[in-house]
Amino acid sequence: MPKTLITTPNSKIRLKDISAEPPKGMTKAKAEKRFAVLGRELFDLQDAMWGAKVNSVLVVLQGRDSAGKDGTIKHVAGCLNPRGVSVASFGVPTAEEREHDFLWRVHKHAPRRGEFALFNRSHYEDVLVVRVHDLAPKQLWQQRYGHIRDFEELLAEHGTIVLKYFLHITKDEQEERLLEREKEAETAWKLNPNDWKERDHWDEYTEAYEDAISRTAAPHAPWTVVPANSKWYRNLVVAESIVGALRDHRKHWKKTLEDMGKAGRAGLAAYRAEISGRKKTKSRKR
Ligand code: ATP
Repeated sequence: MPKTLITTPNSKIRLKDISAEPPKGMTKAKAEKRFAVLGRELFDLQDAMWGAKVNSVLVVLQGRDSAGKDGTIKHVAGCLNPRGVSVASFGVPTAEEREHDFLWRVHKHAPRRGEFALFNRSHYEDVLVVRVHDLAPKQLWQQRYGHIRDFEELLAEHGTIVLKYFLHITKDEQEERLLEREKEAETAWKLNPNDWKERDHWDEYTEAYEDAISRTAAPHAPWTVVPANSKWYRNLVVAESIVGALRDHRKHWKKTLEDMGKAGRAGLAAYRAEISGRKKTKSRKR
């Protein structure tokens, strides 16, 4: 079985060898039940992280049109306390964004300590769509892998838990989803002829994704290739992965909260002692 969690740089990735389907034996009912359990755990972990203010989480969601980036955000964010969550979507750069380096528009959405940031597309577009459509010279976009590695290392050094997901769907599944959109009145607003045009570049995108994943995977910024042909399995994989990554920090956050609690109590005790000392001095003076 090819690996779907990629933590080492320059690993050989072949998307066509990775199944986009749920594993045998996995059912929608099982996945949804497990997702509900994970959702509660995620909420608790977020609460601890929010209070401790030592880490933050950046979830990067990449995938082809209709791969389910929005749906994943809806489900994951639905488990979280909105107080500590932001969502940023990255479309075609504006004129102002184009006047800056490619990370300028991204860096300002990086999460502050205690918070979650969910990215719908990201800085990776600058080595994906830009590469496939020759929107910048090769020499320029090639340098970006290094810039991305440095950027994510900087975030990690600051305490950001960086988690990157490629939502992996097949070409047939995409076609079905796009046709479905067209049929349903409630989803027709999402129709965009560009989605069909982009399908003509399927193989070039595959190559671009494989390179992006391989060149930027790191232990502090892993990629997960998510089998995403089933929405319920996709949600489960992402939730399982986020909770797994946060669990490693739980002890530290709980200890930080405990120390903060002790310091808070000590501060309160000192304040009360001071008040009562002042009262005694006053009554002696009378
Ligand atoms: P989505 O396709 O993500 O569901 P959408 O159809 O509403 O969203 P937008 O969010 O407005 O579209 O923009 C997404 C489009 O912007 C994609 O086609 C993407 O390739 C393109 N895009 C994102 N970043 C860049 C970039 N740096 N350069 C060029 N195009 C980009």
